Amino acid sequence: MTVTGRHYLAIPGPSVVPDRVLNAMHRASPDIYSGELHEIVPGIYEDLKRLARTRHHVAIYIANGHGAWEAANTNMFSPGDQALALVTGRFGEGWALSVEALGVSVQRLNFGKQAPVDADQVAAALQSDTEGKIKVVLMSHVDTTTSVRNDVAAVRAAIDRAGHPALLAVDCIASLGCDVFEMDLWGVDVMVCASQKGMMTPPGLGFVWMTDKAKKAGARSRWRTPYWDWTLRTDPSQFYHLFGGTAPTHHLFGLRASLDMLVREEGVEAAWRRHQRLAGAVWAAFDAWGEGDGKRSSIGLNIADPSNRSHAVTTVKFSAPLATDLRTWVKANAGVTLGIGLGMAPDGDPAGDGFMRVAHMGHVNTHMTLGMLGAIEAGMAALGIPHGSGALERAAAALA
Ligand SMILES: *Cc1c(COP(=O)(O)O)cnc(C)c1O
Repeated sequence: MTVTGRHYLAIPGPSVVPDRVLNAMHRASPDIYSGELHEIVPGIYEDLKRLARTRHHVAIYIANGHGAWEAANTNMFSPGDQALALVTGRFGEGWALSVEALGVSVQRLNFGKQAPVDADQVAAALQSDTEGKIKVVLMSHVDTTTSVRNDVAAVRAAIDRAGHPALLAVDCIASLGCDVFEMDLWGVDVMVCASQKGMMTPPGLGFVWMTDKAKKAGARSRWRTPYWDWTLRTDPSQFYHLFGGTAPTHHLFGLRASLDMLVREEGVEAAWRRHQRLAGAVWAAFDAWGEGDGKRSSIGLNIADPSNRSHAVTTVKFSAPLATDLRTWVKANAGVTLGIGLGMAPDGDPAGDGFMRVAHMGHVNTHMTLGMLGAIEAGMAALGIPHGSGALERAAAALA
């Protein structure tokens, strides 16, 4: 089969970049000392704060999500500090490792690959830190490998219940602009994100939001280095300090366009509702496929309780190697690339063939999601993968 038409990269980042964002970037190098670039930057800061629902501060780095982690880390910690990491998948572990690499000792609460954070365990761990050595509680809002969505407000409540002074730092790289997130209302002190998922801009920008309290605490950090130090990056009237060197010129024009779409035109709350609807259609389809799939395929959503699921990405279990066979078929024959089962491989399945991830994040709409589901159905038919019927009707009904 020859695949024509536009290819759809349905992996959980990088996500689809809107033509409007690409076109905004397609220009000659701008002057970095005056002019349009200087004019758009204050509004970008304003809209980034609206996106995170905070009145506090944001810093922009030329970095991906791993860089955003390190930006936050170096401002939050000093050598010899301790952290409490709440791990619900590979990315939670990744942030813990990047903190550990600085010489910070990290206590982990690992909730496995199919469950959210249990706030009671967080409160208990903090209560037993009687000397107050833990400086920061680290968590992912959504862990993109398992597709679990954690209750951030419940973790804040657990910290307060324990009467512990630790800061709460949250990774929203997979969820910002997709899932409901309220930085100030939920009492989040530090939040990190990157440009290439819900923010619909090519990889290359990392962001750290921080409250006054976190900024004050950060002033004592002995890990701060000239590039990562957030101190001078938060005041957009001081253009030359904002980027620690040359500004990410074209990315800023792209980001301006994506924030126009997400924050100023659609609106953050409408974007949350759109993601919820599309996720509901994906879940309905996999539920139907999973009924009557027989033992050979055993199709099932990785996170059982819908209230603990991401609205941006869905991790699905298949009997190995069917997930890989299906992804390969759909890519070659239907013009859709689905996500690999990153970090999900159990022992004996090193390739992660028993899982795949379906993205519904960022610049996506009903026909893209229904088309992707239709392509999966065609792939299962072509490969003879046993599956329940009526999935597409149920997905359509979920969107009706
Ligand atoms: C994608 C992602 C990361 C890593 O981001 P990179 O840009 O690939 O470094 C970290 N955390 C979460 C939750 C993510 O989804």
